[in-house]
Amino acid sequence: LMQLFRPLDMLGWVYRTIRQGLIDMAQMFRLIDTQIEVQDAPGAPALVIQRPTVAFDNVVFGYERDREILHGLSFEVPAGAHVAIVGPSGAGKSTIGRLLFRFYDPWSGRILIDGQDIAEVTQESLRAQLGIVPQDSVLFNDTIGYNIAYGRSGASQELVAAAARDAAILPFIEMLPQGFDTEVGERGLKLSGGEKQRVAIARTLLKNPPILLLDEATSALDTRTEQDILTTLHRVSEHRTSLAIAHRLSTIADADRIFVLDHGRLAESGSHSDLLRLDGLYAEMWNRQLAEREEVLDEAAE
Ligand code: ATP
Repeated sequence: LMQLFRPLDMLGWVYRTIRQGLIDMAQMFRLIDTQIEVQDAPGAPALVIQRPTVAFDNVVFGYERDREILHGLSFEVPAGAHVAIVGPSGAGKSTIGRLLFRFYDPWSGRILIDGQDIAEVTQESLRAQLGIVPQDSVLFNDTIGYNIAYGRSGASQELVAAAARDAAILPFIEMLPQGFDTEVGERGLKLSGGEKQRVAIARTLLKNPPILLLDEATSALDTRTEQDILTTLHRVSEHRTSLAIAHRLSTIADADRIFVLDHGRLAESGSHSDLLRLDGLYAEMWNRQLAEREEVLDEAAE
């Protein structure tokens, strides 16, 4: 009987591992709101990054056949630069992120990382070198330690703790009775929006990618938490190339370069002061947000 038990037990383990893997994959894809559509070219080489530059070269793309979303988009991000992508709702900002991760292929045009077309390298090597801090981090139903270590399988406890420290969540974890072994997610401890985002930052730090995609929070966080997170993100972005998808303008004024997207086209680009001087779409969005903020402050003062 024991002889039978062992393989069965093994089978159970394999099943659980695969199922967990599938759940993780499903969660990852729900996280970025997309589905798997692309395939590696036969014999595709790995992406090798020496200088983490990113370029969109005349990219045309839509999710559905009859509805083009990006209409020949071109822009370049130099190695080590911090750029922000802004624009009205529905302009295509998040779409840029999904294409960069190659969850979809452009209809035409190319996306280049360090001069290599991302459609011609393996998806695994591409995604291994991209980090994402999403606006709404989904945690796996597992321990907080697992959720951080997910950034790099086989990471030692010391590395996990160092990543938590750099993401400024170590003091919080150390106060929990079970520390890194605390169960989180739907069945475990519920974390606040800010805490979840810090877990995502720690996960990314552990992965240590040369290129970072920051999908800025639209609401969820209060101003103080948001400022704290931004400070952490700034530190995390040092020595990396970063693209921030910014839904609010107040947080992007110090980007090296701002790309203003409108209806799937690059409408303006430049520094914050360049764009204010231009007095176009960016200036209009900026002034409107300032006015909204003053209204809120006035209401609070009344
Ligand atoms: P927001 O600031 O509101 O998040 P955004 O600039 O990030 O907007 P995207 O999410 O890139 O905009 O969407 C661009 C367009 O593509 C929108 O019109 C949207 O309806 C459409 N779109 C986005 N995702 C899908 C999808 N999975 N299937 C079909 N259309 C989609």
